Amino acid sequence: MRSNRTHRPPLLLALAGLLAVAVVQAPVAHAGAAALREARVIGTSAQGRPIVAVHRWRPGATRTVLVIGNMHGDERAGLRVVHRLATRPLPTDVDLWLIRSVNPDGTAAGRRTNARGVDLNRNFPRRWVPSLRGTATWSGPSAASEPETQAVLRFVKAIRPRTTVVLHQPLFGVDSYRAKSMPLVRALSQGTGLPVRSFGCRGGCHGTFTDWHNDRTPGRAVTIEFGRSASDPRIGRVARAVLRVA
Ligand SMILES: [Zn+2]
Repeated sequence: MRSNRTHRPPLLLALAGLLAVAVVQAPVAHAGAAALREARVIGTSAQGRPIVAVHRWRPGATRTVLVIGNMHGDERAGLRVVHRLATRPLPTDVDLWLIRSVNPDGTAAGRRTNARGVDLNRNFPRRWVPSLRGTATWSGPSAASEPETQAVLRFVKAIRPRTTVVLHQPLFGVDSYRAKSMPLVRALSQGTGLPVRSFGCRGGCHGTFTDWHNDRTPGRAVTIEFGRSASDPRIGRVARAVLRVA
């Protein structure tokens, strides 16, 4: 029988592969009960790349933790943290979600903004203000105008993380600016060896993910900034600290 599906485009095949991954729950080797694992496509970028969340948990785990590897595509240290957290032993009570990148187009291109030139960390619907198109911090045509922003909004509202950590570069510190939980900021600083610092976006942050998260959801979101580069031991410390204090 002739198949009319012989010439499916490669993108569709790739998406079919991802959906196949989404229903697999593979046990991960660990002392005690095995951790479960799934992958979920939570949205699609402006250029059609899937935004994927990997979920690791044990039945009954209650501490929901979300880690975002990057929002700015030219900041790659956080991707290494997510890679470690995808495989290291999971504390019994942690319900862990990992998004390698919420900006897969920018990450593929090594560019801060998304494919439409929008700084996603100025596009969230909290204290959003217009800014100059063509700059590195363009906030977009309107609040939550970008598909990547909308995917994150939907996902965070759905899973309601107790703790969210989002990774950036290169300001070197754990951000205390408009912090929702200073004990959490201090614990992350102690665990990572990064100083507590206030990153106020040169006169006030607008449309940032953490501001939206901290104002509109019950959970706490914290920004961790690596320096321009990050050593392997530092990446490991951050990965361990996130699991320990979250
Ligand atoms: Zn950044």
